[in-house]
Amino acid sequence: MEPGWLVIEHPVEPFKIKMVEPIRLLSRDERAKRLDEAHWNVFRLKSRDVFIDLLTDSGTAAMSHSQWASLMQGDESYAGSSSWFRLEETVRNVLGIDYILPVHQGRAAERILYRWLLRGYRRAIVPANSHFDTGKAIIEDSGGIPVDLPTPHSRDRSSRYPFKGDMDVSALESLMRREHDNVPFILLVITNNTVGGQPVSIENIKAVREIADRYGKPLVMDICRFAENAYLVKERDPVRRSMSVRDIVREMLSYGDHFVMSAKKDGLANIGGFIATRVYDAYEELMARVVMEEGFITYGGMAGRDLEAIAQGLMEVVDEDYLRYRVEQVRYLGELLVHEGVPIIEPVGGHAVYVDALEALPHIPRSNYPADALAAYLYLESGVRGVGLGALAFSRVIGGRVVYPERELLRLAIPRRVYTESHLKYVAKSLGKVIAERHKVKGLEIVWEPRIKGVRHFLAKLKPIDAP
Ligand SMILES: *Cc1c(COP(=O)(O)O)cnc(C)c1O
Repeated sequence: MEPGWLVIEHPVEPFKIKMVEPIRLLSRDERAKRLDEAHWNVFRLKSRDVFIDLLTDSGTAAMSHSQWASLMQGDESYAGSSSWFRLEETVRNVLGIDYILPVHQGRAAERILYRWLLRGYRRAIVPANSHFDTGKAIIEDSGGIPVDLPTPHSRDRSSRYPFKGDMDVSALESLMRREHDNVPFILLVITNNTVGGQPVSIENIKAVREIADRYGKPLVMDICRFAENAYLVKERDPVRRSMSVRDIVREMLSYGDHFVMSAKKDGLANIGGFIATRVYDAYEELMARVVMEEGFITYGGMAGRDLEAIAQGLMEVVDEDYLRYRVEQVRYLGELLVHEGVPIIEPVGGHAVYVDALEALPHIPRSNYPADALAAYLYLESGVRGVGLGALAFSRVIGGRVVYPERELLRLAIPRRVYTESHLKYVAKSLGKVIAERHKVKGLEIVWEPRIKGVRHFLAKLKPIDAP
């Protein structure tokens, strides 16, 4: 081991382990076989063939003993479940928003809210700091045009600008001046998943709110990772250093009108979500849609026990000892990767480390999906599963030309409270080796893809370029 290896320290976990789930590392030959069977798309692998699974932080958290205990108190009544009232009360307390509707996961919240906001628009343009894949697909499928307006700081991979999740306010202003009649709402994704799990500053939220007010448009927030964003604000915003995370959460969300939440992220639960709004009329309208599409308004497609687990999870997620551990663990993986010579997006954001696949694999053109190739070869060489977020997910054909997204990223998302220091060391060493031996990595081509382009990275069948 090189000297200086241990300068960066893994945070001490603020919990101990009560239950274990065995994992197994297959041999390289077995992994090669599984990867072929999965058509070189890591979404198609069986989880039992994965050693360390950093595909997503969504629904993969380890629940606490209090969450497991609360499951037993789930009230499974169809209407008026007491588990629902506990969740509703908790959301009001933690987030400071009054009107809440349950849905089975985040994309159901997006579908119901966005479709309602888009009604009556012939050419709806939806500006965001950066759309995430599910929301983007839903807006496109509803005939809308999602527009990404991330801060220019987010384009510089190694800029240490503290709030790379921000929206480009002057770009928003000029878009609104030209197109305000076609804009049904403005969206802030908090943290900004697509540009690297980067936090959005409160100053930026305020500036976007001001523009929304000036044009009379609602401001929607996707708050999947509200607690991680609040913790990063506390760390990086000198004005808010002495505020509690709970107070920062309330301030941050006070500027929004409507909210979509996936409880699979900062709900510390394995399934669930909700729509929240400050506008009573919207609540009334959305209520009927939830009944029609998800279930009655006191369960929304979830079991009563899920409602309990989310209520408990929302209280645990704003615990500052937990958040410090969470954010420092993700940063620890980032620092190990830098040490291994892996080009990552800096500073490291809240839930994942993002690797710049164009820089890591300069020999692979974008038309051969370098981010997804890196994900496939990382699995092949180590059994570690990350996910590509690049041309396969986000390129679109516009006017006969392929328009590529800003970046090709390999995302290593860290499930909450699941992996330990040695797991992360294994990941960093493995990826370092794949990149050091980059000449072995081949680009990929598509063998089959679904007709809905927005979900093609989940489902596409691929193969390495010179494979038969
Ligand atoms: C995960 C996610 C969603 C969708 O939530 P699901 O619960 O997976 O349906 C929406 N927006 C962002 C930013 C996400 O990370």
